[in-house]
Amino acid sequence: MESLSTTCVIAGAGPAGMMCGYLLARAGVDVTVLEKHADFLRDFRGDTVHPSTLQIMYELGLLEDFLKLPHTRITTGNLEIGDAHFVIGDFSRLPTQCKFIALMPQWDFLDFLARQARKLPNFHLLMQTEARNLILRDDLVCGVLAASPDGDVEIKAGLTIAADGRHSTLRGKSGLGVLDLGAPFDVLWLRLPVKPGDPADLIGKVRDGQLFVMIYRTDYWQCAYLIPKGGFDIIKADGLSEFRARLKQIAGFAAGRVDEAITDFDQVRLLTVTVDRLEKWARPGLLCIGDAAHAMSPIGGVGINLAIQDAVAAANILALILQKGAPGLHDLEKVQARREFPTKVIQAFQVAAQNFLLAPTLTAMRTPKPPLLVKALNRWPWLRQFPARFIGMGVRPEHVRLPKR
Ligand SMILES: Cc1cc2nc3c(=O)[nH]c(=O)nc-3n(C[C@H](O)[C@H](O)[C@H](O)COP(=O)(O)OP(=O)(O)OC[C@H]3O[C@@H](n4cnc5c(N)ncnc54)[C@H](O)[C@@H]3O)c2cc1C
Repeated sequence: MESLSTTCVIAGAGPAGMMCGYLLARAGVDVTVLEKHADFLRDFRGDTVHPSTLQIMYELGLLEDFLKLPHTRITTGNLEIGDAHFVIGDFSRLPTQCKFIALMPQWDFLDFLARQARKLPNFHLLMQTEARNLILRDDLVCGVLAASPDGDVEIKAGLTIAADGRHSTLRGKSGLGVLDLGAPFDVLWLRLPVKPGDPADLIGKVRDGQLFVMIYRTDYWQCAYLIPKGGFDIIKADGLSEFRARLKQIAGFAAGRVDEAITDFDQVRLLTVTVDRLEKWARPGLLCIGDAAHAMSPIGGVGINLAIQDAVAAANILALILQKGAPGLHDLEKVQARREFPTKVIQAFQVAAQNFLLAPTLTAMRTPKPPLLVKALNRWPWLRQFPARFIGMGVRPEHVRLPKR
């Protein structure tokens, strides 16, 4: 078996792993990032780059080049309840460099970060290399066993970071306990065509017990249709024409495009929503970050951005320690101490929204009355900065504290 040695091995080149790898390498740490796929080209899995992440790109001096990549800018959040339209969020007043959400395919984002990271001599990205197990010496994690097209490889490291997503293999092997917060709904993702004159916006729609979110993507609408947990089989059994009829009821100005766009259930992707978090994010030699530490609900589109915040916090706390040797458990626990509170607050908001707003709406099969808060946000524009701040900047935003070496 091939054997490699590095200071920090990171499993998973998603937003968390790639950003953490880049930041550590930029601070002079030898990092090896493993990605099981051959490229970053995956179907839609979250393209909402929030002001908090754009701020990190600015602090890294990457923002100008980053914004040269094709993207769409969203400055307001909108809600339609029945026929009434409400503006409920305004990003243009945020105290950040970018006062908008950038919608960009996640593979472009990851490709960009990989390009920047590969310029650093101590950054190593091994594609098509899947972390399969932890190397253990007594209780201490000393690296990972991985599989690559050239055979098995062991990668020894003073620190192993599990950033391998919400179905994390390493978290499964770690024995760390998971707290499942539950989610009463799943999401069907689909695309509808854009036509000239469409609003370049983010619109949530509520009508007759149906919930639909439309995200403007320049040449198509990325749409989320919310269904009760496990309900996709029932929808498929009811047939495509029934499903299209339901979509047409809720798609508003895009209703006339449903028949031409949705001709097969293959064009509809199921996201099984999970909300969970680890009780402990670390054990000796191992730290979990991003979805591997906490799978988020899609409410608010915060998953990528929280993963990036974890990466920044982990690098801020651990880079100097890694330059001198392997971090101890108490060092790794500082990352959890820093990031657990923001995660808990956002998850509490998501769980409250899904249990008290979404689930009752999906089961009631009627259009609810607009909540008082929604009416207030629509009436007083200055109020709209607060939900935008909560979603766009998060709680306890991270900043790059590491000098470039
Ligand atoms: C359909 C869908 C829609 C979403 N919509 C949004 C949204 O609109 N906005 C938002 O912010 N978030 C959204 N999310 C969530 C968001 O994608 C995640 O929260 C975010 O990507 C988490 O980043 P991560 O780096 O922790 O994990 P991931 O992005 O899951 O990255 C993990 C990486 O590890 C790799 N990997 C997995 N196992 C291994 C292994 N054993 N060895 C090596 N590599 C491995 C994977 O291939 C992947 O590249 C969505 C997710 C899904 C599935």
